[in-house]
Order: sequence, then C-alpha cells, then structure tokens
Amino acid sequence: MSPFAKLSATLAAVRHDIGALAAGNSEAVIAHKFGGSSLADASCFRRVAAILLERDDATQVTVVSAMQGVTNTLIALAATAATRDPAWQAQWSGLRERHLETARDLLDDRSGAVRVWLEARFADLADTLKALAVLGIPAREALDAIQGLGEVWSATLLRAHIEALGEECALLDAREVLVVSHGELGVSVDWQVSAARLAEWRARHPQRRIVITGFIARDEAARATTLGRNGSDFSGAIFAALFEARELHIWTDVDGVLSADPRLVPEAVSLNALSYEEACELAYFGAKVIHPQTMLPAMALGVPIHIRNTFKPAHPGTCIATVGDAAEGPVRGLSLADQLAIVNVEGAGMIGVPGTAERVFAALREARVSVVMISQGSSEHSICVVVRGADCSRAEVALDAMFKRELGQGQIKAITVTRDISVLAAVGDRMAGMPGVAARLFATLGRAQVNIRAIAQGASERNISVALDSADAARALRAAHAGFWLSPQTLSVGVIGPGNVGRALLDQLREAIPRLRREANLDLRVRAIMSSSRLLTNERGDLSADWSAQLASSDQAADFERFSSHVHAA
Ligand code: ADP
Ligand code: ASP
Ligand code: MG
Repeated sequence: MSPFAKLSATLAAVRHDIGALAAGNSEAVIAHKFGGSSLADASCFRRVAAILLERDDATQVTVVSAMQGVTNTLIALAATAATRDPAWQAQWSGLRERHLETARDLLDDRSGAVRVWLEARFADLADTLKALAVLGIPAREALDAIQGLGEVWSATLLRAHIEALGEECALLDAREVLVVSHGELGVSVDWQVSAARLAEWRARHPQRRIVITGFIARDEAARATTLGRNGSDFSGAIFAALFEARELHIWTDVDGVLSADPRLVPEAVSLNALSYEEACELAYFGAKVIHPQTMLPAMALGVPIHIRNTFKPAHPGTCIATVGDAAEGPVRGLSLADQLAIVNVEGAGMIGVPGTAERVFAALREARVSVVMISQGSSEHSICVVVRGADCSRAEVALDAMFKRELGQGQIKAITVTRDISVLAAVGDRMAGMPGVAARLFATLGRAQVNIRAIAQGASERNISVALDSADAARALRAAHAGFWLSPQTLSVGVIGPGNVGRALLDQLREAIPRLRREANLDLRVRAIMSSSRLLTNERGDLSADWSAQLASSDQAADFERFSSHVHAA
C-alpha cells in the first residue's frame, strides 16, 4: 500500500470514529492558516481578523504561526542563554516589549488581561532561560518547548482581538490535542489519539470560530514538541483533516505558488493551479512557500488547498488539488534546494556486480543519512547520491567502512565528496511523455555556462533534477526560468549615455517593447542604464516611464564592470 493510500485509509477510519466531531455539525468547516509574514504587527492582526470576519464560513478554524521572526529570535535566545552570554536578557526584553506593544496597539483599553497574561508567560520564559544558563547546554527538551512559544502568544493575541470585535472565539493550544512522533521519515501524526482528544476538546468548546496554534504539538510522552521549521502549513492541513474541512486556505505574503522563488527570479509568475504531486515535489525541492508534508493529509481526504496573499485578498492565488492546470505548459515550477553534497562511489569493479547499489543505500541508511537524489550511469561505473551537506562526512565514513575491502583491492577506485552543491528541479505532471523538455532545460543551462554535475529523472517523469555547484545555482535558476517562461528570444539590453540620442532611443524602446513581445515574440529587457556619473540596474528589465528620475536618484555610481556583469547576468 502506498503511503498516501495508507494515510487515506487511516484518516477514513478516524473520520468514522469521530463522526461526532464535525459530522454532528453538517455545515461547512473552512480551515485557514496565516503565516508569520501575515502577522508582523498589530495592523497585520487587524488585516487578518478583517479577512476572517468578512467570510461566512459556517465553522472557521484558523491556524496561526508566530509573529514574523519570533521563532528565529526564540531559538537564538535559547542558544545565547545556554552559552551563559548575558545578552539573552536584552533579546528577551525586546521580544516581550514587541508582544506587549502589539497587545496595547491591538486591544487598546481592553488589553489589560492579555498584557498580564503575557507578562506572566515572559516571566516563566525568563526562569527557563536562567536554568539553561546554569546548565550551560541547550537542553533538547527546553529548546523544543521554547521555540514553540511564539505560536501560543500570537494565537492568544488574535483570539483576544476577534473577541474584542464582538465575535465569540475559542483558543486551542495544539499541545493539548495533537500527538505526534518523530521518525526517520519526519513527523508522523497519531491520528486516532489526536482525533479523540480533539473530540473531547470540541465538546467543551462549541464556538463557531476557533484559533489554533500552528507548529506545536505534544509527543507520546506528553512533552511539548514541534513539527519542524515552517511546520505551521502542516498544522493547517492536519487540523483541516481533523475538523473535516472542505477547504484549506494558506495565507502568506505572495500571490500563491510562483513559478520560482521570487527572491531569486523577480519575474516569477503566480500559478493558477497545481496538483498535489506537483506541489509536493516543488516543496520537497525547496519552494519555501509551503511545507512538503502539508499535502499528505489534504491529498488523503481530497481537501483543496488555496495559497493566497493576505495583502491582496481579492487575488485568487493558487489552488492545489487532485488535478493541476491542463492549460499550462509542461514545466509548472522550478525550485532550488541548497546546502547539499554529492557523494560519488566510483570504480570499474562495480560493473555488472549485483547488489552494489543496495550496499550503498544500506550503509547510508545505517548512518541515518537521507538521500535527496540518486543517479547512476548505465555503464554502472559510478553511483552518485546527493545528500544534505551536514550529513556528508557521516555518509563518507559509512561508505568507506562498507567498501573497505573493495577500496583496498582497487575494485572501487574512490569514494569522493563534493560540497556546496544545489539541486535545481523542474516539476510538472505533464512533463511525462512530452519529449524535448529535458533537452530544453539542458540547452538553456548550457547557454548560461552552468556546469551540470549529475542528472536524475524520477520514473514518474514529474521531476527532472540537476545537481550543480551552488555558486552557479541562482544563475541556473534564472536561465531555466527564462528558458521555459519567456519567449525564445530574450535580449538583455544596457544603454550607456542617456543624453539626447540615448533618451530618444530609450523612449522608442519603451513604446516598442510590448509590441515586439506581442507580434515578433522578441523579449527585450532593458536591465541597465548608465550616465557619466550614475548607474541604474533593474532585475526585471521593465523600463518604467520615470527611468530618468530613477537614474538621477540611484545610489550606484557609474561603473563599467557592474554595468556589464548586470547586463550579462541572466
Ligand atoms: P509564511 O510566513 O506565510 O509561512 P514563508 O516565508 O514561510 O511565509 O513563505 C513565503 C515565502 O516563500 C515567499 O515570501 C517567497 O519569498 C518564498 N518562496 C520561495 N519559493 C517560492 C515559490 N515557488 N512561490 C512562492 N513563494 C516562494
Ligand atoms: N513559526 C515557525 C517557524 O518559523 C513555524 C511556521 O512559521 O510555519 O518555523
Ligand atoms: Mg511558512
């Protein structure tokens, strides 16, 4: 049975058992999740509450992350305290002040009770940090408990704000009901126990609106734990499944899932629809917009996930469901995973010897190294695996030990490790059976002078992965994006000397660019303009009407090197 089928069967059994939970309430449950980027300050909380209160969801379940940056600060705080550096006190008081200030701003004269509560929670935190400072080590249990506190604070603030607006709202601390365990394949949910605990909680909290802490859970021993960094998306899907929600809306700070990471590819476009499998592959290979485990419960129960922009609620965003978008091209998205390493096992003695690959994977498994990508040439002369950078020394030691004899006798020539590797993945359901996609990817990378270290294509043909040097990764991603999303003829243009003639040329270009794109399939990008004193660079190359004012106020001095490297970069 595949993991999806197994999960689906478990969830079906759970749903049957807890029929009383949501079926008793036959009206639609809609689940929402707001990330830290949607909860940066008091005005963000107001925006989130406005989105929620405007909707007529019969039952509304809202999972929240910590306020933006808070989880990072908590982790740093615990580390600082554990090194006995008194600087933790200033960090602690900054965090405390930020939350108290948000409560004051948000709740005004009704903030008293929440402020008293926050002060008590921060006093508890200070006690824990003092204990860490005495111990002098970042005790695992304390760290698990500390890093999840941000979600408790943000959920309390949102709930108090919704109540202050006159709506009844319950607060669910996920550590009360969600039971998980940590295994080799990441976090797994004890659905049966969690559902039973939730049913019991729900009987005491019948409110129509519920705010739930994301990211945190309890383990089998009832200790506080987390679902891993960025795990609130997964919390959103877990609670959507437990509450039998009809839809899950994940609200973030971009217009849905984009064709590539917008921080690296400014011209990335938002995708209308993706299949669960496509979203899974993109997330697994580094698209930070959604946690890779999120799709599992949603897929098992067929709950559609809508990725939406809190700051542009009218935008439809991306719908992740059983089928993707048939109208779109074969490659739906590109993602980049970094901090990886290649481990290569090479030697003529492997040719035709059965079981070599099995021994490679057995050694890696024994050393608890997870494999991101595998590639073996048909000559069987080498097996190449991509692993996380942090695991590569362990992998090397384990393989050296496993093949000690073959290395000694020369059947295996060497086991080598190359660090600072990234994997670029092109993902799309419709790549399967479509010839030429790989050729186009490799041709584009070749033109951008990217050296490809290893290639893998899954049997599902939904993903082509390319391992390359991290130093080339951003350039490779931009080139591949241009290769699939832009017209076949993209020209990067730079203009030096915007005097009378240059100005006239730029004005003509501005007028001609849209027509050239439409009618001649020619994509001109004016990426840099340089006068005798100033340099203006532009990632997208979309020349705006006020380029001349932008150039005058640019803080970059004229520089031929920079001009030329910017024009040539993509
Ligand atoms: P949240 O706080 O809402 O959980 P995250 O910061 O975890 O938000 O994820 C959203 C960010 O993910 C975006 O701001 C964007 O920079 C980044 N990102 C990376 N890859 C993609 C992609 N393919 N599509 C959309 N966003 C992406
Ligand atoms: N706050 C947690 C983190 O920063 C969980 C999340 O935001 O998804 O990792
Ligand atoms: Mg996130």
